[in-house]
Amino acid sequence: MSLPRRSWVEVSLGAVAANFRAVRNLVGEGVTVAAVVKADAYRHGAVEVARVLEQEGAQWFAVSNAEEGLELREAGIAARILVMADGPHVARLGLTPVIHSLDALRELPAGAAYHLKLDTGMGRLGTREPVAAIVEAVRKCPAQLEGLMTHFASSADYIGTQTDEQLSAFDAAATALHAAGLAPRYRHACSTIPIAYGRRAAWHNMVRPGMALYGYVSPARGDAPPSELRLQPALTWKASILEVKDVPKGAHIGYGAGFTTPRPMRIGILALGYADGLPHRLSGRGRVIAAGEWAPVLGAVSMDLTTIDLTAAPHLQVGDSVTILGREGDLTQDAQALARSAGTISYSLLCGIHERVRRVYLP
Ligand SMILES: *Cc1c(COP(=O)(O)O)cnc(C)c1O
Repeated sequence: MSLPRRSWVEVSLGAVAANFRAVRNLVGEGVTVAAVVKADAYRHGAVEVARVLEQEGAQWFAVSNAEEGLELREAGIAARILVMADGPHVARLGLTPVIHSLDALRELPAGAAYHLKLDTGMGRLGTREPVAAIVEAVRKCPAQLEGLMTHFASSADYIGTQTDEQLSAFDAAATALHAAGLAPRYRHACSTIPIAYGRRAAWHNMVRPGMALYGYVSPARGDAPPSELRLQPALTWKASILEVKDVPKGAHIGYGAGFTTPRPMRIGILALGYADGLPHRLSGRGRVIAAGEWAPVLGAVSMDLTTIDLTAAPHLQVGDSVTILGREGDLTQDAQALARSAGTISYSLLCGIHERVRRVYLP
């Protein structure tokens, strides 16, 4: 029996593939694109996304941890898989570890390929040891240094100089390693933002786009060049209407009577709440698209339910759907706009879409 849908996402695999091609065309032949599919491909579905990108010719994927890498392997993904935030043990699982401390080099099996991460100023993962110590440790290690990488803390910031400083530090380290005879095949530093804004000096010969694949580039601060990527959001989020009713003026809506109707109103109750990933912070401030019109959230978003104002879409009925993310008629709400209303970021909003929200794949 197929149950009626409560809330679901539609993922366009064609859009993901087109976004991947856009990145590849921009960076050109000499730069390998490692497609970042961590966090279940930002909730777009890591296995399906990796399958479609492998068909597009992707030779590298990047995930966060061993479980995510093994999920891809078990689904038959044959491409290389870089594990960015786990330990050296992943080398024994057919995955490629990012090593962030010189101590961890000792645990690598002989012959395993690894990428070494430098902390050039982000203050997160990556070694901060001086180059001489790195050279000594890498020479002693029987595994193979295949990549040298770093990550930028402020790549969208075109006012400050942190990215330039990090890039200089990275390039200086790479040059010193090279002088010591250590020339890893790959050097990489860039996620979506420095790809999109054309920071070519930072591309080196591998880039690690995540958000771009899903159709987004965050806005930059300051005097940034325009984004060079034409992308389309790949995910649409919908919810069904469980109940429609007319309430009189002065009716209280939801927990804490967060909203009181100023006039008789038609309201709709959505089968969607914060347990599905709709941020509670959208209480009384978010909106969805109902029959091509804006429908504001009324009162508190609750765990499984959200009430909306159907004044502008009075003909909608039980079983009809509304759009949380996506387009209806002339209106569009994307993850950046909705995240802004919720006081969060698009990444967190997408990654917060809960597993219980059914996923439907479109070609
Ligand atoms: C998540 C992540 C990326 C991808 O970032 P986007 O902004 O989504 O492109 C790249 N590199 C590292 C180290 C990451 O953690």
